[in-house]
Amino acid sequence: MKTDTEQTLAQKLIRQVNGRVTPIRLGVLELLLNTQTALSHQELEQAAAQTGLVADRVSLYRALDWLVEQGIAHRISSHDRAWRYKAQAELTSPHAHFQCKHCSQVFCLEDLQPALLFKLPPGYQLDEIELKLQGTCPACASLNAI
Ligand SMILES: [Zn+2]
Ligand SMILES: [Zn+2]
Repeated sequence: MKTDTEQTLAQKLIRQVNGRVTPIRLGVLELLLNTQTALSHQELEQAAAQTGLVADRVSLYRALDWLVEQGIAHRISSHDRAWRYKAQAELTSPHAHFQCKHCSQVFCLEDLQPALLFKLPPGYQLDEIELKLQGTCPACASLNAI
């Protein structure tokens, strides 16, 4: 289900980077904003089909790449070698990712910002930082506890 506020947020983010607001960009961004975990290509396609976003695979991926290029969404590598994608309300800042060994879901830990943990020596310029944690997510932990 789409609500007006979500639409406004997706539109706002696209306009913030001076992008053209197209139905497919909006649709993909909304999907990425509305999920708790990061989505793989396959999961994104399934979610798109479920919400009635009519698009072929190529335009879906193209919209996705565009969102990543603009920094509205980011991609995360995972142990099964499939990229996963996630968007958030604010433009991306570096943060840690957690992948569950049991369900393979990838979570963004936005409060865990590795850039804040250390300082680079003078002269080094940081472009990208990746901190990946692996373990058991809360849902799988509670399943195992039973
Ligand atoms: Zn899990
Ligand atoms: Zn993330």
